[in-house]
Amino acid sequence: MSHINEEIKIDYLIIGAGVVGCALASALSRKFKNKSILVAEAGPRIAEGVTSRNSGVIHAGIYYPPQSLKAKSCIRGKNLLYEWALKKNVSHKNIGKLIVAKNEIESEMLDKLLSNAIESGATGLLKISSNELKNKEPDLSGVINAVFSSQTGIIDPYELAKSFKEDAESRDVMFLTNTKVFEISLSNNGMQKVSTTRGKIECEIVFNSTGLYADEVSALAGINKYKIYPVKGNYFKLRTKQKYNHLIYPVKNPKDAGLGVHLTIDMAGEYRLGPDVEYIISKEDFSAQEEKKIKFINAVEKLFGTKDFELSYDTCGIRPKLRSPTDDKEKDFIVSKDHPGMINFVGIESPGLTSAMALADTAIKLI
Ligand SMILES: Cc1cc2nc3c(=O)[nH]c(=O)nc-3n(C[C@H](O)[C@H](O)[C@H](O)COP(=O)(O)OP(=O)(O)OC[C@H]3O[C@@H](n4cnc5c(N)ncnc54)[C@H](O)[C@@H]3O)c2cc1C
Repeated sequence: MSHINEEIKIDYLIIGAGVVGCALASALSRKFKNKSILVAEAGPRIAEGVTSRNSGVIHAGIYYPPQSLKAKSCIRGKNLLYEWALKKNVSHKNIGKLIVAKNEIESEMLDKLLSNAIESGATGLLKISSNELKNKEPDLSGVINAVFSSQTGIIDPYELAKSFKEDAESRDVMFLTNTKVFEISLSNNGMQKVSTTRGKIECEIVFNSTGLYADEVSALAGINKYKIYPVKGNYFKLRTKQKYNHLIYPVKNPKDAGLGVHLTIDMAGEYRLGPDVEYIISKEDFSAQEEKKIKFINAVEKLFGTKDFELSYDTCGIRPKLRSPTDDKEKDFIVSKDHPGMINFVGIESPGLTSAMALADTAIKLI
C-alpha cells in the first residue's frame, strides 16, 4: 500500500513502532477488543530506533528512586517480560548480574544502592562474600564488596518487539511502515486529525511513543513542554582469555548520567562493554567514536583487575534523556495525558525495554 485510501478513521493511533509502541498495540488490543487500532511507523521496519541499539538487559530495578515510575515500571515490567518471553518463545536468559566495589568509597555507595533497591521493592538481590564471588567469577580480581542480582537477564529486543507486533496483529491491529507523522491537530470535542507521509488519519486518541522524537511529535500537536537531550553511548567488543559468567557492573556514581562502563553478554555469548555517556547535538549522530578506546581500556582494567584483553569498536546507541547536561539528577519516565485526545511517552531511556509492558498498562489506565 503506497497511500492510505481517502482518510482512515480509527479509534486509536499509535505513533512509533519501537518496543513501547508495539507493547502498547498488544496491550490495547487485548483490553479493548472492539476498538480499531493502527500503528504508524516512520521507518521501513519496526524496532529500528532506540530499541535496536541498546544493551538488551532485563533490569531488576536497582537504581531508581523508590516510588518513581522508573522503579515501579522496571520491577513490574521485568516480571511481565519474563512471563511473556517464556510464553512467546522470545530468546532470553536469566543470566544474573554482579555489581562490584573496588575501594571503600565504592563499597559505601554499593551499600546505599542496595538499600535503595530494597526500598524500591526490587527482589533477588544479595550481598555476597569473597568466596561466593570467586565461585561465580574466578577470573575477576580486586573486588572488596559485591552484590548479586539473580533476576537480571538478557533478551533479544527485536524478537521482543516482533512478538508484541504479531500478538497485536492477531487481533487485527494494523501496522503501517514508511508512515511518518508530520502534522497533528487536536480537538477538544471531536476527532484528532493526523497527517502522515502516506495520507490522513482521524482518530479518538493519539499515543506518541516516538522515542528520541517524542518532544518533536508532541510539539506537532502544540504541546511544547518537553525537551529530549540525545545522549550517545558507545560500545566496544571485548576479546579475552578470561571467562566471565554474569553481567558485571561497577558501582554507579549517583551523579553520573549512566551506569558506568559495564560488561554485558549478548544472546550469542559475545562480550560487550559500554555504554559510555556523551551529550550530543544531533539525534542521528551514530558515527563511530574509536577515540574512546583509551577511556574504555582504563575502565575495563579497573573493572576486571586485568590487562589481559583486547577491545574493538562495536556500535552506539542514543538515549532519549529528559535530564539536561546541567541537571545533577536523573529525570523520571513521563507517561502523560496532555490532552483528552493525546497520551505522550517521554524520556523513555533505560530501563525502557524492561519496562515496556508496564508502561503500556500505565497509558491504558489514563484513557
Ligand atoms: C545505549 C542504550 C542502552 C540501553 N540499554 C537498555 C537495557 O539494557 N535495558 C533496558 O531496559 N533499556 C535499555 N535502554 C532503553 C531502551 O532501549 C529504550 O527505553 C526503548 O528501546 C525505547 O523504545 P521506544 O519504543 O520508546 O523508542 P524507539 O525504539 O526509538 O521507537 C520509536 C519509534 O518511533 C518512530 N518515529 C519517530 N518519529 C516518528 C514520526 N514522526 N512518525 C512515525 N514514527 C516515528 C521511530 O522510527 C521509532 O521506530 C537502552 C537505551 C540506550 C540508548
